[in-house]
Amino acid sequence: MLRVLVVGAGLTGSLCAALLRRTVAGPLHLALWDKAGDAGGRMITANSPQNPRCTADLGAQYITCTPHYAEKHREFYEELLAHGVLVPLTSPIEGMMVKEGDCNFVAPQGISSIIKHYLKESGAEVFFKQRVTQINLRNNVWEVSKETGSPEQFDLVILTMPAPQILELQGDIVNLITECQRQQLASVSYSSRYALGLFYEVGMKIDVPWAGRYITSNPCVRFISIDNQKRSIESSEFGPSLVIHTTVPFGVTHMEHREEDVQQIISQQLETILPGLPQPVATKCQKWRYSQAHFHLQRMFTCLSHKERLQHHQFPFRNQRDQCLLRL
Ligand SMILES: Cc1cc2nc3c(=O)[nH]c(=O)nc-3n(C[C@H](O)[C@H](O)[C@H](O)COP(=O)(O)OP(=O)(O)OC[C@H]3O[C@@H](n4cnc5c(N)ncnc54)[C@H](O)[C@@H]3O)c2cc1C
Repeated sequence: MLRVLVVGAGLTGSLCAALLRRTVAGPLHLALWDKAGDAGGRMITANSPQNPRCTADLGAQYITCTPHYAEKHREFYEELLAHGVLVPLTSPIEGMMVKEGDCNFVAPQGISSIIKHYLKESGAEVFFKQRVTQINLRNNVWEVSKETGSPEQFDLVILTMPAPQILELQGDIVNLITECQRQQLASVSYSSRYALGLFYEVGMKIDVPWAGRYITSNPCVRFISIDNQKRSIESSEFGPSLVIHTTVPFGVTHMEHREEDVQQIISQQLETILPGLPQPVATKCQKWRYSQAHFHLQRMFTCLSHKERLQHHQFPFRNQRDQCLLRL
């Protein structure tokens, strides 16, 4: 049986696993490891510890589909729309750049529901809190080590984490990546920012005429979303949630600062934009060291050694500028 490991439970890893399941005809053992405690990667949806139904998208906010990709990847969009995973964005987002013909979609159950959809479809054995540390080649088989537990062996390993995290891996992989590949990976630079999720009491109303707003005049706050309104979900059973994304300069300057201090500054700045908000019942501060790639990274299907040939697929979310995929 072919043993395949996908590293990373973000959009790239989950979709890759689903596509492998669809295309590999023979027996396939598919495992997926992620260092985080839940699925989503940069498409994570946080839950309020007070009420898990009160959720907030801390990373990606919506999916933009151009006419070209609406046609090219029609089946992917149709599938997600048919399952109710995606719905058209209908709430007003102030300051959003909308190009003619583009469609924007949101995920009512939170953006991580896209990833969960593909993970389910893949049937992969998914393990969280498994940080890959080393990859070695032993008798033409990949031996993958993680922070805890024994190393495991796979015929094929697919790495989907941001480029700098691939370059942190130890073992034979260090020498098996060519200098050219290393340079390509090292040349990918990412913006850094923070996201703050604020969860409120049931019944609390945020009285603004938008569901999302890009801010251009604040050194700290770049984007605010009334997250449940953005996803068109309101209920008497959970309160509203608010997401704040910081500017990149603020993120870069405060990347190594204490999370409590950063959260306090963001909250103070928010007060100047939306004065008089009540205290949230819970908060979640997320540091995005690798937020979005600064330029279009060519997807890397780099085959260093493989026992079986697997069919290549184009990825359907072409606007995901920074998806990175390294196949070993
Ligand atoms: C703040 C923010 C806003 C964004 N807004 C939008 C938007 O509105 N629309 C849009 O389309 N895109 C947006 N994006 C970009 C989008 O989120 C990403 O392009 C997409 O999620 C990338 O998915 P990925 O699977 O390639 O990578 P990731 O989501 O980063 O997945 C990689 C996974 O690998 C795991 N990992 C890393 N190292 C290891 C290791 N050693 N061992 C095990 N696991 C490891 C990580 O935990 C992570 O889960 C935004 C991103 C951010 C951060």
